[in-house]
Amino acid sequence: MGIYLHIPFCVRKCAYCDFLSAPADEETREAYVRALTEEIRAFPDPDRYLVRSVFFGGGTPSLLAPAQTERILDAVRARFSLTGDAEITAECNPGTLSREKLSVYRGMGINRLSIGLQSANDAELALLGRIHTFGMFEENFRLAREAGFDNLNVDLIFGLPGQKRADWAATLAAVTALSPEHISAYSLIIEDGTPFGRTYGEDALRREEGLAPRFLPDEEEERGMSADTVRILEEAGLSRYEISNYARPGRGSVHNTGYWTREPYAGFGIGAASLLGHERTKNTEDLAAYLRGERSAGEREVLSREDEMAETMFLGLRLIRGVDLDRFARTFGERAQDRWAQEIAQMTAERLLETADGHLRLTPRGLDLANYVMAAFV
Ligand code: SF4
Repeated sequence: MGIYLHIPFCVRKCAYCDFLSAPADEETREAYVRALTEEIRAFPDPDRYLVRSVFFGGGTPSLLAPAQTERILDAVRARFSLTGDAEITAECNPGTLSREKLSVYRGMGINRLSIGLQSANDAELALLGRIHTFGMFEENFRLAREAGFDNLNVDLIFGLPGQKRADWAATLAAVTALSPEHISAYSLIIEDGTPFGRTYGEDALRREEGLAPRFLPDEEEERGMSADTVRILEEAGLSRYEISNYARPGRGSVHNTGYWTREPYAGFGIGAASLLGHERTKNTEDLAAYLRGERSAGEREVLSREDEMAETMFLGLRLIRGVDLDRFARTFGERAQDRWAQEIAQMTAERLLETADGHLRLTPRGLDLANYVMAAFV
């Protein structure tokens, strides 16, 4: 299984962000670490699972004092059995790492960092409301290498207001020059209730309706950025292994691949979701309630066999290698090729899907129309 630990604190809120995160004082952070370790200690049946990945996500996990991070990981190790080569990732933001912090991270067994950069252009970073410059990222990246981290992810976002294809290509070039093992590249989503939602919400709607946007890149420009992403990253030795994720051989994220292949996961902290057995549950998003020990949001979904089959398809198709058809048949006692015979035949004829090496996968054309294809399985 994978373990997700949500650390909901940030220095300040970025202009586009609707994640469950906010600034908090030291006292609150300490109270949260206590509540989180209690939740880990209370996990009911840890012996049923072997943990292959641990992921500190946020928020900005690197805002915690290293000793706090260590207490959380100690609590995980005390409660669960981890594989010897478990992937242990901490998300972090440039400007929050130091030589000391990185060396404590290494010492406690964190072996992968996921650094939120988003853009290599300082004007774009300022527009996004990020707390750092590209120079600060370069410095933190170098410190991470010096501390011995040989598995680094960089998060990027494209399709920013005013961004041109050449701007995005420049970000990709600047980042690949540093040779990270992994890059995640997502297109910007304008979320309601954020400063970006207020400024660009109408523009995003215009674009959806096929009208020319005023600030955001138009559809064609964004498609061009998508195509440039694949080309530039593949040229740099990072293969696309999921719709928005690229890695050197053997460096795909174990944790995230677990989500796409529906491995069980346990989430701890506010807003964290778990998928255990046939149940998906979610914790409260209310920090005060969580600190009082009231963890459950009362959200408990028992998944039917139909739900699980559909999820296996639309999550698995996110992976470039596709859905493992034998595994599907073993899990459900029914072949995906029979269950969706008509849909698969039609989309194969439309050159959206193909079968190769025992996997059903999206073709390059299917990848561009992924949402349309996936909808057929829901
Ligand atoms: S650092 Fe990440 S989680 Fe925090 S506000 Fe910015 S985008 Fe959101």
